[in-house]
Amino acid sequence: MPRHRAQQLKEGTRHRQGPERPLGIDERDQEALFAAFMDNSPGASFVKNEAGRIIYVNHTFETLFALPSKEVLGTVHPGWITEADWGPIRENDRKALAAGHPLTFEESTTMPNGETKVWLSLKFPFRLPSGERYLGTTVLDITALKRQEAALRESNQELERLRRLQRREFEVMVQNIKDYAIYMVDPQGLVMSWNAGAQAITGYTEAEVLGKSFMRFHVPEDVAEGMPQRLIERALEEGSVEEDGWRIRKNGERFWAHTALTAVHDQKRHLGFVKVVRDLTEVRQLEAIERELAALGKLDHMKDDFLSVISHELRTPLNFIMGFASILDDEAAGPLTSQQHEYLGKILYGAERLLFHVNNLVEMSRLSAGLLQIQPAPTEYGALIAHVLETFRPLADDKRIRLESDVQVRGEILIDGQRLTQVIGNLVDNAVKFTPDDGRVTIKAYPEDGRLITEVADTGIGIAPDDIPKVFERFVQLDMTTTRTVGGTGLGLAICKSIVEAHGGSIDVHSDGPGKGSTFRFSLPLEREGEEA
Ligand code: ADP
Repeated sequence: MPRHRAQQLKEGTRHRQGPERPLGIDERDQEALFAAFMDNSPGASFVKNEAGRIIYVNHTFETLFALPSKEVLGTVHPGWITEADWGPIRENDRKALAAGHPLTFEESTTMPNGETKVWLSLKFPFRLPSGERYLGTTVLDITALKRQEAALRESNQELERLRRLQRREFEVMVQNIKDYAIYMVDPQGLVMSWNAGAQAITGYTEAEVLGKSFMRFHVPEDVAEGMPQRLIERALEEGSVEEDGWRIRKNGERFWAHTALTAVHDQKRHLGFVKVVRDLTEVRQLEAIERELAALGKLDHMKDDFLSVISHELRTPLNFIMGFASILDDEAAGPLTSQQHEYLGKILYGAERLLFHVNNLVEMSRLSAGLLQIQPAPTEYGALIAHVLETFRPLADDKRIRLESDVQVRGEILIDGQRLTQVIGNLVDNAVKFTPDDGRVTIKAYPEDGRLITEVADTGIGIAPDDIPKVFERFVQLDMTTTRTVGGTGLGLAICKSIVEAHGGSIDVHSDGPGKGSTFRFSLPLEREGEEA
């Protein structure tokens, strides 16, 4: 230990009260022990006399402040402590002396290197037996501790700020939800908050319901039965309940709602309930529509079944009529007068037309049921077209419409003859129907690039360009005034399209516009018997 230190202490220790010397340690050793104790203390300690002069500093002081004791001893206000820092220190010294017992302070000083240090400063006044008063001080450097504390405080504040922001954002989000009414009621059932959805669904503004009982949203019968109260009690018991039931809007209208009611607590108290309400009116309407659609679908099925049954039932007697009329016409049952032949011709014509429509119905019901399957067989296409033309000739003759054909297909080809009769029949039927008196209907059939092309052209009313894509749809009739006079079902072209496509072909129509006639044209893969499909 430095010699001057022991010297310094002499003043203080000399006056210590006498004989109680530690065992084996004489007075000098005791001084050394005390000096070593002070110098090794982690606190910077110093003593001031009553005049405020520093009369002792320990070794820790010298290192901490990087000042040799001789520069400090005897001074009142060490030169390196700024005026601003000195004021509080002097005041604290005064307080401790006045108190007469130890006091703790937090002091700060700007060090000669510019760094600010914070000290925990323990000041304790004492007296020597001679009566002189001194003020002892021990300071600990708590700068790092204070910095950590400040950083912690700052990060806590930041956390709190973020939490507040999150809470606010969440509130804004809930506030703006429009599809759900989300609101809080207090334990007594008074509305405490109200969102956009609540206003949209009930019609009440926030100002109209805040602080009012939630009972107003329930229908009177439920209120009379105590239902809302029961829901609240269940939510309290079970935490939350869900319920579907009638609610009432501001305008008195009732609506079907799904409600979730949740009891809200903080650590100690029951704060109230959150209600989330969804208006199920639209959902219920949709469900009703779905039910109706399902019923309609069933009806549609029944209609198809009915059509297929009835049309088969119609075909049998028709075959009788046509068969026996032909036998009579052939005079197999005896000679006929020309008038009888004429009448039989009309019977046969009527029966053919009826069969044509019945066949359309049969095809339609098969189409709806997805059962349209073609059965190709070797068929003379020219003969098939000639037969169709014969069927429609009386109709054309009535309107003095010329029916012409140009068929350049020789031999038999593989097609479903009955179905193609139906296609060409529908096209010729339309051509004659939609062509005014004295017009012309022409059928052409010819091979082109390995396909069989069939065209049915007329000089009739034509089709507007916008209507062209529509004509092949089911139940489409373009100009109701015309079709009413000429009749029809709007099914013919849809059937044609399905049959042609089932053969692997395609159909389209060309018209230069209203009044300029139409040409329907379909193409089929040209397969002759014996050829690979
Ligand atoms: P419809 O039984 O009414 O003839 P279609 O499906 O055969 O039913 O035809 C649908 C509609 O297409 C017709 O109502 C008519 O408006 C139009 N259409 C069909 N063929 C012709 C044609 N050759 N000329 C003008 N319009 C036609």
